[in-house]
Amino acid sequence: MKTRLLLLLAFGATAVSFAAELPSYTPDANAARAAIPAVYRWDLSPLFASDQAFEQARTKLLTEVATLAKYEGKLADPATLTACLELYFRLHRDANFLTLYANVRQNTAQSDDAIAAMGQRSLAALDTVVQAAAFIRRELLALPPTALATAYAQQPGLAPYRAYIDNLRRRASRLLSADGERALALLGDNLWAEIDLNELPSGYEDAQKALLADISWPKIRNAEGQEVQLTLANYSRFRSSPNSAVRRAAVQALLGTLRQYQHALAATLAGQMKLDVSYARARGYDTALAAYLDKDEVSPAVYDNLVRTVGANTPLLHRYVELRKKALGLAEIHLYDLYIPIVAGVEKDVPFAEARRIIPEALKPLGAEYGRVLAEGLDPRHGWLDLYPHKDKRSGAFSSSVYGPHPFVFTNYQNSLDDMSTLAHEYGHALHSHLAMKAQSSPNAHYVTLLAEIASTCNESLLSDYLVAHSKDPAEKAYLLVERLESIRTTIFRQTMFAEFERTVHQLVEAGTPVTATLLDEKYRELLRRYYGPGFTIDADDGMEWAYIPHFYYKYYVYAYATGLASGIAIADRVREQGEPAVQAYLGMLRGGCSKPPLELLKGAGVDLTTPEPIEAAMKTFARTLDEVEKLLAK
Ligand SMILES: [Zn+2]
Repeated sequence: MKTRLLLLLAFGATAVSFAAELPSYTPDANAARAAIPAVYRWDLSPLFASDQAFEQARTKLLTEVATLAKYEGKLADPATLTACLELYFRLHRDANFLTLYANVRQNTAQSDDAIAAMGQRSLAALDTVVQAAAFIRRELLALPPTALATAYAQQPGLAPYRAYIDNLRRRASRLLSADGERALALLGDNLWAEIDLNELPSGYEDAQKALLADISWPKIRNAEGQEVQLTLANYSRFRSSPNSAVRRAAVQALLGTLRQYQHALAATLAGQMKLDVSYARARGYDTALAAYLDKDEVSPAVYDNLVRTVGANTPLLHRYVELRKKALGLAEIHLYDLYIPIVAGVEKDVPFAEARRIIPEALKPLGAEYGRVLAEGLDPRHGWLDLYPHKDKRSGAFSSSVYGPHPFVFTNYQNSLDDMSTLAHEYGHALHSHLAMKAQSSPNAHYVTLLAEIASTCNESLLSDYLVAHSKDPAEKAYLLVERLESIRTTIFRQTMFAEFERTVHQLVEAGTPVTATLLDEKYRELLRRYYGPGFTIDADDGMEWAYIPHFYYKYYVYAYATGLASGIAIADRVREQGEPAVQAYLGMLRGGCSKPPLELLKGAGVDLTTPEPIEAAMKTFARTLDEVEKLLAK
């Protein structure tokens, strides 16, 4: 990249004056997109110069897809196999250009139907490519090992596809007869699908969503005493109200209403889990857990290790619950008291220019090379970033990429400390993508869910350390430390509790036990009691919380949030303690993309998820942070 050298010179002491050349802007969620200086809006031209160019590319792609068919039945020939895989992966990448472009356009123009239609067309194009390639997967699986070894030896051009082929063939014994495969495909089995599992919701997931949408939620009173409509969208806001009557009303109204639909919701959840178990059994797996983790070559022992290690550390969570109770001056602590801040928020203004100075400083332990790429991506002139909120822009933040162009980072920056932390998080994702794309060929450059939240949370962890170390204000320090506790509570403790619940319900199904609303309620309450401890008061409907969580329909997905944050913390610790060798090991994992199984890549970074160590490292951070907060609050 041409600009990199320039940045190398500009990075460092001159970063502040460099930033000063950028136009100043005050974020305004109601502004028109055009009112935001162009430099703070991302540059989509590396994808397509215009919507018209998108359409042309789509038409061309759909014509080209048809040419894949000429390879059908001929993949036993090494040269033909290589040519076919080159074409397929190129078409797949072209389709991803379309889906990414339509998706990022949609996120800044939510109510534009024409752009929404582009999104549909782009997904249909991707689906066409994947469908057209069905014969490739079939023929690759049918190749005798000797034929494949010969092909590898003869065709150096096959090397970039080796991880893909090997991963496909790894599970070859799970494949059924042609008739069996056809029947499972008709039933919607996605255990084998190449597309992301969660892009194909089951009928049960659709039914749960539809039911939640149909429910008429009650009205509650807000802090001003006005009647307001409770919705799933505003639930978390009311749940974290400093006014105890408001948060209690929100939680009790939501869970109480779910109770009225408990049998239907239990039926959708049980149905989903039975489906997971059926697909797993159809392919000869002992459990649904083994089947769904095998997609990423992860053993159930990793999952069990997480649940066991976090479970053994729940006394730390009990201590935090007690601390909350004390800090909030409550006689009893309930589910609705878990989301309010226990220290006052910090009214600190962090304009983007300041975040752009602080984040690279905080991430300096990751070394010069990381710093160079970070500075390049954080300079809005390079077009990675869509920074500020505006009318019709979706809320939240994400980073997205397709092989080739720079990553795209989407935020709704409004000058808060949290926004800076979000920015550091999203640049973790963006740099992971960028480094993998620079080091790997396109089939090996993406990364799987298990690794997805490591780079992001490692950045957050380093930023948090930096801010705590540089804060002179005890109130600010307490705020930052409590944020860290909350992040570990909600991402490691709570998601592991979900992971355990999910495993328990699958096991009930596997044992042939009828999964009723009463049983689900009982299992969930048992977990609440164990996780939050003897000082926590469980209310009548708390056991209904399972009913609205969408992730239970995602087939063993949530555990990766917990292992992701634990690994991110463990890596940040290693980088701090060991410096350069730990940095190089970590960068090796980021650059690895999906060229090796995820657990192996992670091991290369010094984190072994088959052992308790990384989870224990996060637990130690939690314990240390608790000590500090207890001390600060005692003052
Ligand atoms: Zn993330």
